[in-house]
Amino acid sequence: MKRMTKHLFVAAIIVAGLVSADYGYAKKNKNVDPEVKNVIFMIGDGMGLAQVAATTVNQGYKPLNLERAQFIGLAKTYSANNRVTDSAAAGTALATGTKTNNGAIGVDPDKQPVKSILEKAEENGLATGLVATYSVTNATPAAFIAHVESRNMEEQIAEYYLKTDVDVFMGGGKKFFTDRKDGRDLTEELEDKGYTMVYELDDILSFKGDRLGALLSSNAMPKMIEGRGDYLPLATGKALEILQKNSDKGFFIMVEGSQIDSGGHKKDASVVISETVDFDQAVGVAFDFADRNPGTLVVVTADHETGGLSIPSGKPDFSLPDQGVKYEFSTGGHTGIFVPIYAYGAGAENFSRIMENIDIPHLLEQLLKLK
Ligand SMILES: [Zn+2]
Repeated sequence: MKRMTKHLFVAAIIVAGLVSADYGYAKKNKNVDPEVKNVIFMIGDGMGLAQVAATTVNQGYKPLNLERAQFIGLAKTYSANNRVTDSAAAGTALATGTKTNNGAIGVDPDKQPVKSILEKAEENGLATGLVATYSVTNATPAAFIAHVESRNMEEQIAEYYLKTDVDVFMGGGKKFFTDRKDGRDLTEELEDKGYTMVYELDDILSFKGDRLGALLSSNAMPKMIEGRGDYLPLATGKALEILQKNSDKGFFIMVEGSQIDSGGHKKDASVVISETVDFDQAVGVAFDFADRNPGTLVVVTADHETGGLSIPSGKPDFSLPDQGVKYEFSTGGHTGIFVPIYAYGAGAENFSRIMENIDIPHLLEQLLKLK
């Protein structure tokens, strides 16, 4: 009898353990609010799986914030006219859900404008934002607000910041607003429209209003190895704070780690790794925000891979730092390899599959119930 009781007791513990483990899983998923209210869409420009792997290897396999992702998928990145996309066509695909030709911004292959998820979010009363580490007129952020046939039309792209009601934008590219062929000063026009325009990180962080434009450099911002510092994670946190305050209906923001791509083009692993680490810091800020604010979905992906990076074996000695592997680039351009998708928070389970890059904004629009 005593023995029997003991066995039952052990069995009860095992069953309780299994049930609680199972319950824990279910509970965790129930805790994720099924209603998606806020979307933080993060794009690592040129961040293929090799860029993430190199960054992880370089820090001795210490997990990145990306490893907190609850669901993982893969995206096909080809454009309408090329198996290897550029950032303009890929940005347009991710922003509008339409594949277009390389070089095109916010227009379809027939050069007709296609509305972006940011523009639709605005129309639906959500607060909106764009944060980048290159110029705010560069291809990826441009695809979310502008409609021009060429990514090189950066002065025209800058004018779209007056045409949309984006609440917050931050990055470089001041010269496209102030040093223009038409002599206009778009920063003054933006001030007239109700924006506070700032040019220093400190002024971003101390900002208390609701509409902010930050242009922190003439064109591209400095790289991490040139001393950019904590701009991206800090600016991302501040942008989320402003957007949350600006609308009860929720918000949509795109945050770009713009210069991982630059490292690939330069075939410089130190740039790739330092820019990926910085982007991952911003991912951590976004995931933490989602933890504090149920109904927030964070989706992190890339527009394409840059550099054809691979990690062949170096001296096979784990005791020697940095000598166990090499970082090799097979091209100074982009490649057509699938890119990873990391999803976290409300609705994250929808991204756990292989999909077209255009499926991502379609899913985000559905989850936000945009009309
Ligand atoms: Zn590129």
